[in-house]
Amino acid sequence: MKLVFLGPPGAGKGTVAEKAQKDLAVPHVSTGEIFRAAVKNGTPLGLRVKAVIESGALVPDELTIELVRERLGQGDAKSGWILDGFPRTIPQADALEGFDPPDRVVDFELGDPAIVERLSGRRTCPACGRSFHVKFMPPAKAGICDSCGGTLITREDDRIEAIQRRLSAYRAQTAPLIQYYRGKGRLLTVDASPEADAVYAAFLGLPGMNKR
Ligand SMILES: [Zn+2]
Repeated sequence: MKLVFLGPPGAGKGTVAEKAQKDLAVPHVSTGEIFRAAVKNGTPLGLRVKAVIESGALVPDELTIELVRERLGQGDAKSGWILDGFPRTIPQADALEGFDPPDRVVDFELGDPAIVERLSGRRTCPACGRSFHVKFMPPAKAGICDSCGGTLITREDDRIEAIQRRLSAYRAQTAPLIQYYRGKGRLLTVDASPEADAVYAAFLGLPGMNKR
């Protein structure tokens, strides 16, 4: 099974992908992980990515496409994969159609108010990196890290204005992809508003998800 995951920040698709890679016996491939691995292994493509990242620029489409193609050509990805973070643009989607088309594209749907609630409630411990949520995973003592006693903060990324910016960027970028795959008859949707176990059960219940 070859799957592309789409979904806004806060929809929990990373959690679904982590579980699904065991149950469906396919690797969870994220572009972040591909970039890090390529840089670490010092492949020719990796050296180019490193130079781009160090310059502060965005990794261009053609380089991202080459890296994904290289990753999906590896042995563990022969029988399938879950792609997360790719494609992000129509040229990337067209390229993927050319070398390894997905069987299904799963869109994890979550409305803006729920996304804002999930992301804005996040609190992080700068000392040890652990994160909490004021409503869904509160620390024992408000504002204090359970692990190390550090003072919890709200990261810049999790402030309302930053969340609104990330969300509008996401919607603008993803809407054309949703249309693209719907037009090919391969789009499936999952309601990402219930708690994580229910979302995962709904995912496994989609047509064609054969748990091993
Ligand atoms: Zn801590």
